[in-house]
Amino acid sequence: MTDSTKKYEFKAEIKKLLDILVHSLYTSREIFLRELISNASDALDKLRFESNRGTEMFDKDLALEIKIEFDEKKKFLTITDTGIGMTHDELITNIGTIAKSGTEEFVRLIAETKADASNIIGKFGVGFYSVFMVAHEVIIKTKSFRNDEKAVEWKSDGLGEYEIIELDEKLPRGTKVEIYLKDDAVEFAEKWRLESIIKKHSNFISYPIFLEKDKINTVSALWREPKSSITKEQYDEFYKFLSYDSEAPMDVIHKSVDAPIQFNVLLFIPKKSNDFFWQDRENYGLDLYVRRVLIQHKNKELLPEYLSFVKGVVDSEDLPLNISRETLQENVVFTKIASSVSSTIFNYLADKAKSDPASYNDFWKEHGKIFKLGYSDFSNHDKYLELIRFNSSFCKDKDELTSLADYASRMKEGQKEIYFITGTNREAIKSDPHMEIFKNKGLEVLYLIDPIDEFVVQSIHKYKDYDFKSAESVDSKKMSDIKNVDEKKNEIEELSKDDEKQFFSLLSKMESILSDRVEDVVKSDRLVDSASCIVSKDEGLSAAMQKILRMTNKEMGQQKKIFEVNPNHKLVRNLIKVFKADSNDDFIVNVTEQLFESALLQEGSLDDPHTLIQRLNKSLEQSSDWYVEVKKIN
Ligand code: ADP
Repeated sequence: MTDSTKKYEFKAEIKKLLDILVHSLYTSREIFLRELISNASDALDKLRFESNRGTEMFDKDLALEIKIEFDEKKKFLTITDTGIGMTHDELITNIGTIAKSGTEEFVRLIAETKADASNIIGKFGVGFYSVFMVAHEVIIKTKSFRNDEKAVEWKSDGLGEYEIIELDEKLPRGTKVEIYLKDDAVEFAEKWRLESIIKKHSNFISYPIFLEKDKINTVSALWREPKSSITKEQYDEFYKFLSYDSEAPMDVIHKSVDAPIQFNVLLFIPKKSNDFFWQDRENYGLDLYVRRVLIQHKNKELLPEYLSFVKGVVDSEDLPLNISRETLQENVVFTKIASSVSSTIFNYLADKAKSDPASYNDFWKEHGKIFKLGYSDFSNHDKYLELIRFNSSFCKDKDELTSLADYASRMKEGQKEIYFITGTNREAIKSDPHMEIFKNKGLEVLYLIDPIDEFVVQSIHKYKDYDFKSAESVDSKKMSDIKNVDEKKNEIEELSKDDEKQFFSLLSKMESILSDRVEDVVKSDRLVDSASCIVSKDEGLSAAMQKILRMTNKEMGQQKKIFEVNPNHKLVRNLIKVFKADSNDDFIVNVTEQLFESALLQEGSLDDPHTLIQRLNKSLEQSSDWYVEVKKIN
C-alpha cells in the first residue's frame, strides 16, 4: 500500500448484498458476466451520447468495443471497455456507496425464498457486485473520458472494504475489470464457457464483444429487420436478453411505421407477470433508440404505467440524435410516437381478444391486474372498455371471464343497467342475499372480486348506454318490469290485511330498536331465501368500497343503511305473531339485533362480533331446552 492509497468501507446495504452473493449463491453464477458486459455497454452508450452532443473527450478516436481476455492457468479474467470511464469520486459514489434501486428488493426476496435464490437472481440485475460470486479479488482500472482527470485503481476482496489509488501511469479511456477467480470458479476462464455465456446472455449488446481476437456477438438491431426474415427463436432470444426472463414471451408485437412519423417498435408481453417487480418502479419502460443509437434505457414516457408489463424497443429516424432525455416529453414527434405505441398495443390486444379468446383470458389473468389501472386514461377509453374482463353469475366457474360486450348481448328485455356485486370470492358472492332478486329474475351480475374492480366500474361509469349499478343499492321497484324466472317461489300465501298492518308496525318497532344505526327499515321485495339484508342508498357507496375508503381515509364515517325485511320469511311470519301477542316482547329486540348484526357481518362491516356470538349462543341454549322438551328425552 502506498501513501496515496485510501481505504473505504462498503455501505451497509451493499455489505448485505455481498454477503448473500459470496456465501449463499452457487448456481447461476455465470450472470456476473452479463452484468459486467452490460455495465461496459452502458458506459459505451454514455460515451456515444456525449460524443453526439459534441463534448470534448479523451482518446476521441478509440473504437467503441468490449474486450474479454482470460488465462485459465492463472485463473484470471479481464473485461475491458472503451466507454465513459470513472473519476476518483465517481468510483466512490458508483461502486461502494449507492446500491441500485432493486437491491433492497432483491435482498428481501432472497431472505424470503431462502431455498432457491438461484431462481430469482437471473431476473435481477444485481450489478457489479455479482462479480464476487466468482472472484476472490477484483481490481478496476479506469480512465474518465474527461481530459484532465487522472486514471484510478480500485481494489477489493468483496468482504467489507475497498481501496482506491490515483495512478500516475497513462491508461487508455475506459474501464478494465480484472477478476481473480476463486478456485471453484476456474470454468469462467475457459474459452468455450465464456463464449457460450456471452452468446446466451449478451448476444444483442450493440457493441462488438471480442473474446481475445474473435468477435462473439451478433450486433444487429433486430427491430429494424423485416418481420419475414426473423425467426421465432430470434425473437425469443432477443426478448430473454432484454428482459432477463428465462421463458419465451407470451406475445410479440413487431411493427414498422413510415408515415407521418417513421418508427419501429418491437414489443413483448411476458408469459408471467413480474409481481415482485411491481414495487420496483424503476423497472419498467421501453428502450428508446434514435437511428439505432440507444438514447435511453427504460424510458417511462413511451408507455403509460398500466401498460408497464410490456417490454421492448422503439427506434425512430425522425428524432434528433442529440435529443436530451430531459426535453423528450416536450418533443412533438416523441409524444406522437408514444401515443402510437399505446394504440399499437391496444389494437394488438383487441385482435387477440377477438381471434383467440382463450389466450386473451390467459393474458388477462397474468396482466389484467395492472392493465385494469388504465380506467383513468381517457385517450384509449373505448378500446379499454372492450378489453376489460370480469367473472359473473353467467360464468360456470371462477376462471371463466366475460367482456362487457358479451354481458350486454345477454341483457334481458326491460334491463337498463349493468349490475355488479362486490365480494371477496365467488362462493361468498353467490350466497349473498342481494343476489336473490337477480337469481329470481335470471339477471346476470358482474362479480367484482379484486378490490380495484369497483374503482374501475365507478370511474368508467357507463358502457354504451348502460349505467353500472351495484346490487346492494339497486332499486327493486325499477326491476318489477322484468319477469321472474321461477314463479313457484312467489306462491307463498299472502299476508292478510290485518297481518300486513301488523307487519308495518313491526317494521317501525324494529326501526326504533336500531334507532340511529339505520336510516329506515322497509319491506323487501328483493329477498327470496333470506329474512333480511342491508341496502345502500341509491347514490351510496357499496360496503366494500366504504371499507377500502375507511382504511385509507381517516374522516370517512359509517354510511347510514337501509334495513330490508322479507315479509314472506318463516322467521318474520313468526315474529309478526309474537308482535301481535306482545309488541314489547324482548324476543323481538333480540331477533332484530341478531338479524341486523348478521347482515353487517355478511357485508364485512361488523366491527365487534362478541355480542352477536353471545346472543347466538344464548338462543342456541334456549332452543336446546325446547328441543329436549319436544323430543321428550328428559
Ligand atoms: P448498475 O449498472 O445497475 O447501475 P452496478 O452496481 O453494476 O449497477 O454499477 C454501479 C455504477 O457503477 C454504474 O451505474 C456506473 O455508473 C458505474 N460503472 C460500473 N461499471 C462501469 C464501467 N465499466 N464503466 C463506467 N462506469 C461503470
